[in-house]
Amino acid sequence: METAAFEIKQYKDMWHELGMDVERFEKMRCVLGDVYQKAFLFQNNRPKGMGYFDWIVSEIHGGRVREILDAKKQGSPVVGTFCVYVPEELVIAAGGICLGLCGGSPGPIPDAEKVLPRNICPMVKSAYGFKVAKVCPYFQSVDFVYGETTCDAKKKTWELLDREVPTYVMEIPQMKRKRDKTLWVEEVKDFKAQMEKVTGKSITAEAVSEAVKIMNNKRRALQRLNKLQHHNPSPISGKDVLLIEQIAFYDNPVRFAEKVNALCDELDERVKKGISVAPAKTPRVLVSGTPMAMPNWKIHNIVENAGGIVVNDESCIGTRYYKDLMDENANDLDTQIEALTERYMKIDCSCFTPNNDRVDQVLKEHKESGAQGIVHYCLQFCHTYNIEAIKLKEMCEREGIPFLAIESDYSPEDVGQLQTRIEAFLEQIKG
Ligand code: SF4
Ligand code: SF4
Repeated sequence: METAAFEIKQYKDMWHELGMDVERFEKMRCVLGDVYQKAFLFQNNRPKGMGYFDWIVSEIHGGRVREILDAKKQGSPVVGTFCVYVPEELVIAAGGICLGLCGGSPGPIPDAEKVLPRNICPMVKSAYGFKVAKVCPYFQSVDFVYGETTCDAKKKTWELLDREVPTYVMEIPQMKRKRDKTLWVEEVKDFKAQMEKVTGKSITAEAVSEAVKIMNNKRRALQRLNKLQHHNPSPISGKDVLLIEQIAFYDNPVRFAEKVNALCDELDERVKKGISVAPAKTPRVLVSGTPMAMPNWKIHNIVENAGGIVVNDESCIGTRYYKDLMDENANDLDTQIEALTERYMKIDCSCFTPNNDRVDQVLKEHKESGAQGIVHYCLQFCHTYNIEAIKLKEMCEREGIPFLAIESDYSPEDVGQLQTRIEAFLEQIKG
């Protein structure tokens, strides 16, 4: 790609139709284009298959939105989400589209702070700000937002967000006992009824089976990418993998799986030929913690600019989203809902107590990825991940794994200080 020509495409008429603040959005579009160009297009030796994902970013506010609006005209419900606890299979089975709504930009935070308290996490403020400032075409396109009760900041924000856009809230249990699973099954059934209400049609077992295959294929493609990312020397940068993981939340799932698999074919070839993005001696880092919504590339950018490489993301943007498949043999609705619940209950969100499975999972991913150290990333005011970092630190001490805990927000103010800490950490793990 001719890097100088990169821009996020403009669709002014469509944005006006969506009732957006077009003048303000224009400025954000240009800033995002510049930031993307610097962070992604100037990387060395990128795989060619990244061209598709660059194109998706260039159409992020246009082509993909147009596709969604066209599908909506044909009767596809559009559901905005903020959490990987959404039973996406049911949205797809209803002929709908699931959109992970961004909350990774500092731009709309001042808008949110006019209403919300300042001392809540930047993800919630950013997301809420996108809606109230009318600067997100996806937010403007959804039929309803799916909210959940995974943390207090989100739970209470949904009540206010409901004034701006219909917000359906599902109760996510906070423990994983039998009775919690029973509650979750009921919640999943209610969500299915909500999808049926929006479409006016019943969801059939055949449609769920089809949706399960679509989602499993998407997850398999991401698992394959994750394995290739573990290779040393790495055939792809951690930043590019993060970008793909973020795009997974709003691209068409069938096309996305095809493109990820095509990229993986290329990465397989690279591995065979020894083509990499960084030499084998590059310090390898596993990032674990709170999810990084687009366009939050801060930590990956700092690690890779400082001469390290991210080889695994243990977060809801990363492995927590795709590590578990759903049983494809269930073929009646009751069994499917049971299987779906089972699959989602395996996600180790820090909202659960106890959540020791996450500690074991991080250790497992550390071993599998060949990482030399763990950077625990936590958004400011995200209490659950912040406190859970203590157990991860203890595990790392026990296992002799270098560990660095970082708490940050979306502002550029702490970049210099983080750079210094991460550079020192990379020196330490170089051995
Ligand atoms: S961290 Fe928890 S609340 Fe956030 S997306 Fe993951 S599962 Fe959902
Ligand atoms: S990052 Fe933490 S505080 Fe913010 S929404 Fe997610 S779980 Fe809640």
